[in-house]
Amino acid sequence: MQTITQKFNVEEVRKDFPILQREVNGKRLVYLDNGATAQKPQSVIDSLNNYYTQENANIHRGVHTLSQEATSAYEEARVQMREFLNAQHTEEIIFTKGTTDGINLVASSFGRFNLKEGDEILITAMEHHSNIVPWQMICEEKGAKLKVAPINDQGELILDELYDLITERTKLVAIVHISNTLGTVNPVKEIIAKAHEKGAKVLVDGAQSAPHMQVDVRDLDADFYVFSMHKVFGPTGVGILYGKKEILESLPPYQGGGDMIKTVTFEKTTYNELPHKFEAGTPNIADGIATKAALDYLQQFSWDEIHNHEMELLEYATKRLKTIEGLRIIGEAKEKASVISFVIDGVHAYDLGVLVDKMGVAVRTGHHCTQPLMERFGILGTVRASFAFYNTKEEIDVLVNAIERAKNMLI
Ligand code: PLP
Repeated sequence: MQTITQKFNVEEVRKDFPILQREVNGKRLVYLDNGATAQKPQSVIDSLNNYYTQENANIHRGVHTLSQEATSAYEEARVQMREFLNAQHTEEIIFTKGTTDGINLVASSFGRFNLKEGDEILITAMEHHSNIVPWQMICEEKGAKLKVAPINDQGELILDELYDLITERTKLVAIVHISNTLGTVNPVKEIIAKAHEKGAKVLVDGAQSAPHMQVDVRDLDADFYVFSMHKVFGPTGVGILYGKKEILESLPPYQGGGDMIKTVTFEKTTYNELPHKFEAGTPNIADGIATKAALDYLQQFSWDEIHNHEMELLEYATKRLKTIEGLRIIGEAKEKASVISFVIDGVHAYDLGVLVDKMGVAVRTGHHCTQPLMERFGILGTVRASFAFYNTKEEIDVLVNAIERAKNMLI
C-alpha cells in the first residue's frame, strides 16, 4: 500500500531529520544505531507538538470538540496502520507500548487461555530477550515446555531441524523476522505455512523488519505480528500488535480497566469489542497520533527504493569492514538486512564503542539483548552498525576510519 509522491534522494531525505544535522563531540553525528531506535523526521516532531498545543484531550469518552478531534486522529492512525500492514480489519490493529508489550500481551492472554501442562512453545536461537523471557514465564506458570530451534555458523535457521521441532503439542511458534544482532532475514512465510500444517499459531517479532521491508500480514498469514513505532521513525512508547480477528476475539483481555469494558457491576463485567478489549486505560494518545505522521513520511517512498539503498550500504560496509585486520563479522546469512555485527581480535567491543563515539560515530556494543545468541557464537558481545535509509556511504567511510583509529589506540 504505497503512495509514492517523491523520488528517493538521500541528501534530501537527510534534511527531514533535524538531529542528523547536529554535532557530537565536535564532529558531525554519524548515527548507526538505528536497530536500537530510529531518528524522527520533522513531521513526526510537528505532530507531537501539534497534539499538545492544539488537540490535547482524552479519547473515546468526551463529547466535546477536542476529545472528538483527538479520537478521530487516533483512530485515523489505526486505519492507516491497517493499510500499511494490509490487515483485513481495522480492529485487528492493537496499540501497545512496543514490541515487548505486544509479546507480553500475547504470552499472557494466548498463553493463559491455550497452554496446558506438556504443551510446547517454539522459539529460535536468535531471539531478542523480549521474545524469550515472556514465553519462559508463561511456560513456567503452565508447566509447558520452551523449545529452541538452532542456527548454523552463518547465523541462519536450520530449517529442517526447526520443522522437526514443531509437533502436535506446539501451540505457538514465536520467531523474529529480522535478527537485530545478525541481520538475518528469516523465511517467515514458509515457517508460518509449516507451523499451520501442524496446527500451531505463529507470532512474528517484526521489530527489525517493519522499518526495512513491506510487511503484508495477510500474505504472510501471520497470526500475530508485533513491532515498535520508535524503530519505524515514529515516537517512543507506542507499538503495534496485529492479530487475526477470530483469534483476538477468542482471547481474554490482557489488562482490566477503563475503555476495555462494556458494562461493569460488582458482580460481573462484560468486555468491549476489539480493539478496545486489549487497550485498557488512557492510551499513549500523542504518540499514537504521531504514528500516522511516521507512516505518511515512510509511504512517500517505495520499499524498493529504500531496500536498494540499504542493500548498497550493507554491501559497501561489509566490503570496507572486511579490510580491517582482525575484524570478524558475526552473521553472514545469505538473506540479510542492513545490520552488521562484528568483533575485533584483542579489542573489547565496549572500548571500541566509546572511542568511536568520541569521533562522532554512534554504534551499539554489547549483547544486544540476545545473550543466548552470544553464547552460541562463544562471544560476550559485538559492535553493531545498523543502517537506515538516511545513512550514506560517506558515513560508512567515517565509521571505518574511526574503527581503524580506535583499534590502533587499543592494541
Ligand atoms: N525484538 C527485536 C528483534 C528487537 O530488536 C527489539 C529491540 O531492539 C525488541 C524486540 C524489543 O523492542 P522494544 O524494546 O521496542 O519493545
